[in-house]
Amino acid sequence: MVHTVHSAGGERSKILIIYTGGTIGMKRDETTGALVPFDFSGIYEEFPAVRRLKVDIDVHTMPKLIDSSNVLPSDWCAIAEVIRDNYERYDGFVILHGTDTMSYTASALSFMLENLAKPVVFTGSQIPIGVLRTDGRENLITAIEIAGAKIDGRPIVPEVSLLFHSRLCRGNRTHKCSAEELDAFSTPNYPPLAEVGVKIAYNGAAIRQANCFADSPTEPLEVATMMSEGVAIIKMFPGIGEYTLRAILSVEGLRGVVLETYGAGNAPTAEWFLRLMKETVERGVIVLNVTQCDNGTVEMQLYETGQRLLSVGVVSAYDMTTEAAITKLMYVLGKNLPLTESLELLRKPLRGEFTL
Ligand code: ASP
Repeated sequence: MVHTVHSAGGERSKILIIYTGGTIGMKRDETTGALVPFDFSGIYEEFPAVRRLKVDIDVHTMPKLIDSSNVLPSDWCAIAEVIRDNYERYDGFVILHGTDTMSYTASALSFMLENLAKPVVFTGSQIPIGVLRTDGRENLITAIEIAGAKIDGRPIVPEVSLLFHSRLCRGNRTHKCSAEELDAFSTPNYPPLAEVGVKIAYNGAAIRQANCFADSPTEPLEVATMMSEGVAIIKMFPGIGEYTLRAILSVEGLRGVVLETYGAGNAPTAEWFLRLMKETVERGVIVLNVTQCDNGTVEMQLYETGQRLLSVGVVSAYDMTTEAAITKLMYVLGKNLPLTESLELLRKPLRGEFTL
């Protein structure tokens, strides 16, 4: 469902808000007192300040509003298709999404939207929009402003980003780090694309530049909607058992695993463990090594415990977040390429998701 809400005056941007659900959309029903979804088509009545931005806003409400803990790859496809179908008509897109899995969706969309040349800004809130002290109002207004921001007629942030509290971050570099604080997202290993204070201070050097992504903003937008389901995440812990690990790795249809290792990409050198990893890789399953640390990169050459993983064919994810690693694996495997070509795509940054 699309609603148009116009406001007067000046040279303007056209923004499509895509509302998917989550806390940001909740408002208290005055008669029952229960939290119910807010109708964002009433955005100007609810937040008159939005009229002062130089934007015209349309609102697309997804057919089923969800708590983002229920999000599925099919929902990512549906959001990507709304962007594709409306791409030519808008200057930018704001995705209102629950915070719990927002980093997964933002990462997935960064890969699925090939040749993206317009802003796609994710945001949400920790406190419902209908509660007086909500953080949703600021997040929403700032996300709209960023999605419509241009210099010399060109968008300032032509990539998938995530705006929360006082920072705009690259979407595939984010992680929900707090269940309570309003500053709920971190951006490990990559600087913010903008700091939001009295002004919005854009960090031009960190924002997508021509040629810094593997795709091209001058080519037409393509939407990759095939995301492989044959993936898993395994977090290493001292004492993880051979039977447990073997059971996960022998699941039918498994094609890729994100292995969360220790420190700079280290894992046990126990003979059974390395044998199991070798067998898995030899079966054609891709094992992508991500660190459990909050920041820093995988460097498997540093210690024997990492070198052994490298020697059995485990692939470095460098400084990628787990969210980016799993969604990239789904995206790359969804292309059904020969193994060597999949590995080639995994070994290079496609959308600035890791630093070599
Ligand atoms: N459970 C909610 C969601 O992710 C939390 C939120 O939006 O903050 O949809």
